[in-house]
Amino acid sequence: MLNLQTTVQAAYNKPISECSNEELYVALLNFTKAVSSIKPINNSKKKLYYISAEFLIGKLLSNNLINLGLYDSVKEELAENGKDLIAIEEVELEPSLGNGGLGRLAACFLDSIATLGLNGDGIGLNYHYGLFQQVLKNNQQETIPNRWLKRQSWLTTSHHSYEVPFAHFTLKSMLYDIDVPGYKTAKKNRLRLFDLASVDGSIIHDGIQFDKTDIAKNLTLFLYPDDSDRQGELLRIFQQYFMVSNGAQLILDEAVSRGSNLYDLADYAVIQINDTHPSLVIPEMIRLLMLAGIEMDTAINIVRSMTAYTNHTILAEALEKWPLDFLEEVVPHLVPIIQELDRRVKESYQDPAVQIIDEHGRVHMAHMDIHYGYSVNGVAALHTEILKHSELKPFYDIYPEKFNNKTNGITFRRWLMHANPRLTSLLDDYLGHGWHHDASQLEELLQLEDSKALKESLEKIKAHNKRKLVRHMKERQGFEVNPNAIFDIQIKRLHEYKRQQMNALYVIHKYLDIKAGHIPARPLTVFFGGKAAPAYTIAQDIIHLIMCLSEVIANDPQVAPHLQVVMVENYNVTAASFLIPAADISEQISLASKEASGTGNMKFMLNGALTLGTSDGANVEIHELVGDDNIYIFGEKSETVIDLYAQSGYLARAYYERPSIQPLVDFIVSEPVLKVGNPERLERLYHELINKDWFMTLLDLEDYIATKEKMLADYEDRDSWLNKVIVNIAKAGFFSSDRTIAQYNEEVWHLEK
Ligand SMILES: *Cc1c(COP(=O)(O)O)cnc(C)c1O
Repeated sequence: MLNLQTTVQAAYNKPISECSNEELYVALLNFTKAVSSIKPINNSKKKLYYISAEFLIGKLLSNNLINLGLYDSVKEELAENGKDLIAIEEVELEPSLGNGGLGRLAACFLDSIATLGLNGDGIGLNYHYGLFQQVLKNNQQETIPNRWLKRQSWLTTSHHSYEVPFAHFTLKSMLYDIDVPGYKTAKKNRLRLFDLASVDGSIIHDGIQFDKTDIAKNLTLFLYPDDSDRQGELLRIFQQYFMVSNGAQLILDEAVSRGSNLYDLADYAVIQINDTHPSLVIPEMIRLLMLAGIEMDTAINIVRSMTAYTNHTILAEALEKWPLDFLEEVVPHLVPIIQELDRRVKESYQDPAVQIIDEHGRVHMAHMDIHYGYSVNGVAALHTEILKHSELKPFYDIYPEKFNNKTNGITFRRWLMHANPRLTSLLDDYLGHGWHHDASQLEELLQLEDSKALKESLEKIKAHNKRKLVRHMKERQGFEVNPNAIFDIQIKRLHEYKRQQMNALYVIHKYLDIKAGHIPARPLTVFFGGKAAPAYTIAQDIIHLIMCLSEVIANDPQVAPHLQVVMVENYNVTAASFLIPAADISEQISLASKEASGTGNMKFMLNGALTLGTSDGANVEIHELVGDDNIYIFGEKSETVIDLYAQSGYLARAYYERPSIQPLVDFIVSEPVLKVGNPERLERLYHELINKDWFMTLLDLEDYIATKEKMLADYEDRDSWLNKVIVNIAKAGFFSSDRTIAQYNEEVWHLEK
């Protein structure tokens, strides 16, 4: 058995007590990797390959220790030597391999797949700088490369290498693996990240600029490199093809080594395409099977019987359509295959809405996935219904049997056991450990709704988690947060559909209300966190507005004691783990129909925050589970919103002219805000809201303000509020990703346990 003390002694020739946290981190990393490396790899016959452009895995030290069953003993051994595991984990740099919910979902899924003992690996790319790091300066977002690989990491070098052919050159890949030990399981899976030895960070300049044409040097530098020009779009195709060609070659190698003759490949492998980024795996796999001597018809049928697609969005901008001539420029060998796939569709179906190649010569990746896969799933009940009856209706009419729902989930190992250890032990005390493997057992908490002791403990834990967050904010950003305030938190990527701007308008409402003499019963702190895509100007303007409001309020002695706005820098998994356990109010306020599922909503509920949300995504299912009394739902329903889009029936200006709304919007360009802000940004946002407001902020604003005020008033009845908290925690079991993965396996993958 490996031993931490021995590992430390061997590495540094001194005892644990004399090591720095940096030394101990490296020792713990190597110790944990060594323990995990001994675990056998799951090698059952049929294997899932979850291909995804993103894996937002977060720091791994604590989670791997939890999963390996070593967390408590290691923590204790360190404590005995005067060392703190939490402080040591601070040293770890969070891998920058994802952007938002889609990547975090992939990470939660890998944890649950391993935990359920299923054979399934992730396949992706090893981005050296990943998604940019956000720096907040002068009330604006600045972007710098995220140097997450500068220290030793969880990657281990594997000996696989494949040749990936492009139009004018061939690139030879290398493969890194990250072990995925399930929670207390016998076997492990892996996250397999392809890379290129020639990639060179020295070509980066001025923040995150680089030569987009130098593919051998730039291929795996960044996740989602700027694609606002042609070279950027071509680079995205280079990345996607590099990912899936490597993935397909690996899948074939492994299937053959387990006994496949390729004709029976579907008995050995199933591919889950996470959003459209990996869609080129379909023509690539067909190409490789044909190279192996299989006829095209047969190859197409094999691929169709082993490929499933997950849709994550109905936003047109996020449904990829590559011009055929771009594909011709990067991967000409795939073009005849894609054209043949398209020809077969055109032969059977005349409807232009279902074609792969449209009249402008653009290849619709999602359409290829649906025609040439056997399963199409949405990620929450409402989202799947919208796909079937609206967004993908023409496809549902052709293939009703392919469509299915898999409501997203989150791994409770990270989002409860790791993020909220005190709540975890409280639940253990009341319920035992059964919920660790069967989250539905949290429902037993409902019988304790009247327990005074439980409520007191919940209050104490929330207060503790708030103080922890307050310390974190002080250390990270030098920001003083009042620990006695109500913590109202909106953390997610910056996007107009998520409507951070609506929350900012609420802040303006509250500010003006306090100025008018209405002093709230208790202070309110509104937290925002999220990155804006560098090419998304309005999203940057919204960050700017939030930060300007923060400054205006902090400098107003009449308001500052009662209201505070915090913009959390560089929102990521680490920040989420501090923020979510401290929240009272979970802001889930997307325009109905636009948030496919959301998973932040689930994390908050599990940690005892109440949802303030629209009838969107998984909020709808949270609402059904907890009932009307335990959630705060407002705003127009998705049918209304979909109708408004269909009839161009929303006019922002008509709402703007309402006396309750106009002063709030006007405040964006008022003298106190302009004094601390950039007039160009503020005026652009102001005009956008009045003249366009594509995501209908003003439509729901009045209802939002009224509902939030009701919620703040309800907060004062602590007994009743804590009843709601208990119901939310008790009903969160449904959102365990173990449940989601069990459903994928039963209905889509059919892997043996
Ligand atoms: C959960 C999570 C998300 C997704 O949040 P939504 O509110 O569902 O959009 C994004 N980023 C991080 C770091 C997360 O942990």
